[in-house]
Amino acid sequence: MLASNSMQELTINLHMHTRFSDGHVTHDEIAQAALAAGIDVVIVTDHNVWVNGPEKHYKDGDKRVLLLVGEEIHDQTREPQKNHMLVFGAGRELSTLAYDPNRLIDGVRQAGGLAFIAHPVDPPSKTFGEPDISWVNWDVQGYHGIELWNGMSEFKSLLKSKLHAAYYAFNPRRIAHGPFPQTLRLWDDLLAEGRRVVAVGGSDAHALPGRMGPVKRTLFPYTFHFKSINTHLLVPQPLSGDLFEDRRLVLEALRQGHAFIGYDLPAPTQGFRFTAQGKEGISHMGDELCSQGGVTFQIRLPRRTECRLIKDGKPVKVWTRRDTCTYITSEPGVYRVEVYIHYLGYRRGWIFSNPIYVI
Ligand SMILES: [Zn+2]
Ligand SMILES: [Zn+2]
Repeated sequence: MLASNSMQELTINLHMHTRFSDGHVTHDEIAQAALAAGIDVVIVTDHNVWVNGPEKHYKDGDKRVLLLVGEEIHDQTREPQKNHMLVFGAGRELSTLAYDPNRLIDGVRQAGGLAFIAHPVDPPSKTFGEPDISWVNWDVQGYHGIELWNGMSEFKSLLKSKLHAAYYAFNPRRIAHGPFPQTLRLWDDLLAEGRRVVAVGGSDAHALPGRMGPVKRTLFPYTFHFKSINTHLLVPQPLSGDLFEDRRLVLEALRQGHAFIGYDLPAPTQGFRFTAQGKEGISHMGDELCSQGGVTFQIRLPRRTECRLIKDGKPVKVWTRRDTCTYITSEPGVYRVEVYIHYLGYRRGWIFSNPIYVI
């Protein structure tokens, strides 16, 4: 669907846990941290419990944050543990359907919600006895998207020893490098099958188990997460303060993939845009447009750095040190953008756009 050119941007942080599951804080404390970090929306997703009540706008002076309540659902009887699903906007308890991922997705859709596969690739941490909880049932149909970049899976992947754990716990700014290459490949493969799969970034903020010993009490606070891996949404109008209307705006942008993932710690990613001009007008990330008559892509970066335009999983153009990039084509394909930035001695993923589908 074509969207208007003057879209508003919302910074949202999703996938986090409270004391209702294995997090260490309350909904109210999450809202306060989100207000302090200056983000617009948080989506709390406790394990296998949909918490009714805390969904509302929280205010501090003239600052406002919308807290939405979703759920992270998995089959707790499954051995080994796999298949975590993030559910947004269903507005009811659905964990009773966890035993069958296809039934769960159907249930989410019937409830008007969105189903996103959480941490599709999640490596084990042998040092800490943390298992691999990747998604394995890839025959499922009808889900809306995947969590392309999960902050906690990435942290886990670095825990090669207790020393590594202590190092990264005290230096959380050194953790994030980007989505796992396997997850990016997986996403490109799904897109190549003709599916529309929306990518989001999640912080997966919650306390690690006590058996992680000295690391536990030094782990990064939620304010840190809210300045790290965010999902940025493009919406047709600003949030109004009306819960029903604002929730609808957020869910609709997620459903359509009017979104990009921004790692906001090295530098704010706000203002990134990836659009395509076709003969019918401007298309945004998540949209589809016709190749007939040619398509002009425009990419706008918040600062000059390395930008890659990916078509059907392969780079077709790489720009370095540009903040405005243009590419003209008449070739159908799935186009998306990756942006990299140098930060603390490494080249790191900074922005991952959702695709524009040229048909
Ligand atoms: Zn999970
Ligand atoms: Zn989680």
